[in-house]
Amino acid sequence: MSILEIKNLNVEYRVEGKNIKAVKDVSLDIGVQDSIGIVGESGSGKSTLAMAILQLLPSKITKVTGEIIFDGVDLLKISEDELRKIRWKDIAVVFQKSMNSLSPVHKVGFQMSDIYKVHKPKATDREVKERILELFDLVNLSERVYDLYPHELSGGMMQRVSIALSLIYFPRLLILDEATTALDVVTQGQILNEIMNLEEKLHLTRIMITHDVSVVSSTCKKVAVMYAGCLLESGYVRDVLTKPKHPYTEGLLNSYPSLKGERKNLRGIPGTLPDLSISHRGCIFADRCKKATEICFKKEPKMLEFDNNWNVACHLVGGVDCD
Ligand code: ATP
Ligand code: SF4
Repeated sequence: MSILEIKNLNVEYRVEGKNIKAVKDVSLDIGVQDSIGIVGESGSGKSTLAMAILQLLPSKITKVTGEIIFDGVDLLKISEDELRKIRWKDIAVVFQKSMNSLSPVHKVGFQMSDIYKVHKPKATDREVKERILELFDLVNLSERVYDLYPHELSGGMMQRVSIALSLIYFPRLLILDEATTALDVVTQGQILNEIMNLEEKLHLTRIMITHDVSVVSSTCKKVAVMYAGCLLESGYVRDVLTKPKHPYTEGLLNSYPSLKGERKNLRGIPGTLPDLSISHRGCIFADRCKKATEICFKKEPKMLEFDNNWNVACHLVGGVDCD
């Protein structure tokens, strides 16, 4: 059963007379209690996709089309008031610097209590504190953090507080946008383990936005690979990240140290992302693809579905017959 269906989503930024197509015709089906990693290099449109789900994009400069159906409701068709009821309560997000939104002059517990009372105004102080300490326990934070100021926390503690805050209303969908990227590997590993444990307890669905394939490989069931605003390959991690069908996914994997720890030479993907304000003909990855043939520069490959919900957009896998 789906919790989120993204259908033909397009997001365009209008800046300085240019239209930047940051997300192009992306369709993605996310099931209840799925954990899906959205990977791609910087500028591929991952964060724009996450912000579009929450409708947090700057409305004056963005044009969004398509459908984002959460629990049967198209988030692109409801009012800001209705969206406010869904954000945080049903869909929560943690950014890399979420803690920056907390005030430096108030203690963590005090600020979390204030936030809790926005949607639960009748809750007693005792109830609120119990709830916050329960969340601290879930993310492995000691109770003393309740009486600390944000500047007294380490980076890892800060991100744990951000994750606890995101869970304050028991959301059903959690979006982590590079939420652990700035942490050292040990702390990152601990927090990712905690997230996986708590999502089982809380029956959460998770979308993980990251440029790090190894994070997706170790923490997600599914993966979606984005490049220059386009979705190129998606499916189960055990399929896509072990025997990728798309040359870009292969390139991403070759740019990372082996997930099994064996020695291999790292090979980056030569070239840079295309200019997103210019229309492209053919495959969006063609200029950088070692396997490109004539057809790749002329026709855009269709997204083809293989067994086990494995989707690939590349002429090599048979999608030569394109519009
Ligand atoms: P990163 O990992 O660096 O955050 P990303 O994959 O999340 O990258 P986005 O941040 O979504 O990619 O950016 C996609 C494209 O949209 C980029 O070309 C970026 O410059 C452009 N973009 C993002 N936000 C804005 C904005 N507010 N105004 C104009 N262009 C933007
Ligand atoms: Fe490479 Fe062609 Fe496949 Fe694009 S369609 S990824 S250019 S082989």
